[in-house]
Order: sequence, then C-alpha cells, then structure tokens
Amino acid sequence: MINRKSRDEIKRMRHAGHIVALVHQKMKEVVEPGISTKELDNIAMHIIKENRAIPTFLGYSGFPASICTSINEQVVHGIPSEDVILKEGDIIAIDVGATYGGMVGDSAWSYRVGKVSDEVDKLMKVTEESLYAGIEQMRPGNVLDDISKAIEAVANREGYGIVRQYGGHGVGHEMHEDPFLFNYSVGDNTLIKSNMAIAIEPMLNLGGDDVVVSKEDGWTVSTKDGKPSAHFEHTVIATDDGPLITTKLMN
Ligand code: MG
Ligand code: MG
Repeated sequence: MINRKSRDEIKRMRHAGHIVALVHQKMKEVVEPGISTKELDNIAMHIIKENRAIPTFLGYSGFPASICTSINEQVVHGIPSEDVILKEGDIIAIDVGATYGGMVGDSAWSYRVGKVSDEVDKLMKVTEESLYAGIEQMRPGNVLDDISKAIEAVANREGYGIVRQYGGHGVGHEMHEDPFLFNYSVGDNTLIKSNMAIAIEPMLNLGGDDVVVSKEDGWTVSTKDGKPSAHFEHTVIATDDGPLITTKLMN
C-alpha cells in the first residue's frame, strides 16, 4: 500500500532531508584524493547526530555504516573502510539516510575526486540530468511509468546501461516503502497522488546493465563489466504545487 503523508509528516521529512543535504554539502567539501571512505562515514555520522537525527542506514539489515560509499565500477551499497583511500580521477557515489522525528530522508550524490576523464564526467552529468527528468514527472495525475520513461529516455539518448535490479522506492516512516520505482519503463500505471513520497534514484552505467553483488562482503554492488557507474538520488513529494524535493537545504 502506498501511503500519503500528512502535513506534519511532510514537515518532519523536510527536516530529515535538510540534515541529509547538510551531509552532502560537507561531502562535497571533503571529498579529495587521500581521504578514506571511513573518514567520510565518521564525518557524516557526526553531522547526523549533532542534528539530533539517526543514521538510517546504520544497522539496516545489518549494514555496518552511516553512509554507502561506492567508487567507480561500484554502483551502490559500498561499505566505508579505512583501507579505501580516494585517488585522483575516481568518482564516488555517497548515499546518505537520516531519520528525524520518525521520518526518513534519502539522497545519493556522485562526486568527482579531482579531475575525472571526459567520458566519466559526461556520465555524471547525464545521470544527474536523468534524475531531474524523473523528478519533473513526480506530479499528481501522472503515473509511475512517466517517471521511469523520463529517466530511461535520457539514458538511452547516450546509450548508457540502466541498472535493472535496483531502483527508486516509496519513503517516509521507513526507508523502503511501496512502491518500487523502475528506472526504465515497465508500464506501471500506478497513479501518483498528492503527498506521496518517492526516493527517485537512477543508476546509470558507462557499459552494460548487469551488476553483481560482492561475494566477499555481501553488500557492494558493482557493474559486471567493470565500467564506471553513477548514482544520483533525491527524496521527492508530489504536491499540487509541483514536485517537492525534501533532501535539499531549507532556506
Ligand atoms: Mg539512498
Ligand atoms: Mg534510496
């Protein structure tokens, strides 16, 4: 069942989203060659806690950290480690979740570590573009497939792979609520109604669609062909005034 959020729940979701955005603001500053993903996790955890929120990911199905850090060919769910040091030319997708007043904000962003290759730079720009194309469709009266189609069209234009096994999701009291949102058209005609909240999160690959889960840690998802992948995500509420992104800084 897809629940619709009350005014009070939306207020708390915006607060949670603001805290997630604060973390991303800091990540943008500190991501550079030489920093470990564990250090990034510590910084994120500190910001979430000092804002009296809970790191949503920590302990989720046993996940051992506050953020997911996925580098280059890693797509999602990378585990921060003091042994993983960022280097010039890497890209890193950082996924952040914060729970405030019982409501969740969920947002991922891909960052460049120093200067990246032109083709990877374009992958990142286009994946971000596909996110906003999807967000634009998050309007009452549209259907879920409108979001999926918008994302897919941007990816297809450039011939990028689209991750099939993971996608967007309803969000609110829980990080993962109904519905599941595909990043390619499956003809889902579920109606979008006002005050529904969905985390929209395209994952696009420079190569093919296929991904594999690490046998070593059971978490890290990587492209099968080893080519880079980018990930951008916002939590978005459909309102009568248009799409409301909760995971950005409040003025
Ligand atoms: Mg996320
Ligand atoms: Mg998500």
